[in-house]
Amino acid sequence: MSTATITLKDQFPGLGGGWHYLDTAATAQKPQAVIDATVNALGRDYATVHRGVYARSAEMTLAFEAARRRTAAFICGSEEEVVFTRGATEAINLVAQTWGVQNLKAGDRILLSTLEHHANIVPWQLLRERTGVEIDVCPLTADGRIDLDAAESMLTPAHKLVSLAHVSNVLGSMLDVRRAADLAHGVGAKLLVDGCQAVPRLALDMAALDCDFYVFSAHKLYGPTGVGALWARAEILESMPPWHGGGAMIDRVTFEKTTYAPPPQRFEAGTPMIVEVIGMAAAIDWLAAIGLDRAEQHERELGAKLREALRMRNDVTLFGPEETAGIVSFALDGVHPHDLGTILDEEGVAIRAGHHCAQPLMDHLGVPATARASFGLYSDESDIEALLKGIERTRRIFG
Ligand code: PLP
Repeated sequence: MSTATITLKDQFPGLGGGWHYLDTAATAQKPQAVIDATVNALGRDYATVHRGVYARSAEMTLAFEAARRRTAAFICGSEEEVVFTRGATEAINLVAQTWGVQNLKAGDRILLSTLEHHANIVPWQLLRERTGVEIDVCPLTADGRIDLDAAESMLTPAHKLVSLAHVSNVLGSMLDVRRAADLAHGVGAKLLVDGCQAVPRLALDMAALDCDFYVFSAHKLYGPTGVGALWARAEILESMPPWHGGGAMIDRVTFEKTTYAPPPQRFEAGTPMIVEVIGMAAAIDWLAAIGLDRAEQHERELGAKLREALRMRNDVTLFGPEETAGIVSFALDGVHPHDLGTILDEEGVAIRAGHHCAQPLMDHLGVPATARASFGLYSDESDIEALLKGIERTRRIFG
């Protein structure tokens, strides 16, 4: 166990007391730096943004827009290309209901994959109901990665959008985004990347990835709930009609005709999530200071160690590829994942048991649910040891 990791755990008031948190893929615990920034934004520094003529509001506006610059810099995009949303789910719905409705019609096709989170399935089904667009599903390789060779043979000029997860929230498998972008662009389609599980662990560069849309939620990257971002190429955002109407997204309103603000404000109707955005920027600063390379390596190593230990047992089925981004799904023979999760909870170990909002993937795996352990920067080998001990106790109970 590295001393650096122990120091990190100390920064998280939600951890400690011998509790082993292995549900970071659902939501990450918050470091004190994020809690402090959020408390200050809600208390000492609180005021509205964009409208006030008084100094406090002007300062809050500066902090809010600085947060946009920080978010953009974090993913190597530009600030005009970052739209604050309530999270990844809202960001995908925004794209479906604006760009999708504007650009897709009956007969056009969308390519998704078997491992997508419901947030990257249902918005497209809603769009299908509205426009008659067709949905195709790219299969997985035998070890649980999106099969881009299959995608290549499936894609046709009728495909207008490819929408894939960068990192699977169930299997931890990682997508070669650059290749997916090349394949999509090769048939004239756009690529949307669901970056929820990638943003906390992989260094990102929008230009290098060459995707068209990228979405993520702050709460998975050590920030607050209720906030996230849509990144989209400036020219695409520019062409997209507004989604929600109201204050802040307008240029001029009359009863006869309203004109809209340029992006990103066009897509941010109403008083924004001021405190949450400040908290997200604090999380980004915290994570950037530690370094994404360190996050990726740390979580990959813990994932590999857990897989190795589980493989030693002859009563565990492991799902997903050998190399994962710190997310490990498994089944203990003869024990429902919910029972395992309940017994582990008695041992002070928190894992996720269920379908992980990926029911089509569960159908593909032929199971109703999996047990999932997922790591964060604060995780260490003591968490793995506690999990293994809990699995052993469960085995003794179930026989
Ligand atoms: N996509 C993936 C891969 C996820 O893991 C999640 C959250 O579990 C989502 C989308 C949805 O994120 P949110 O609920 O924060 O909008």
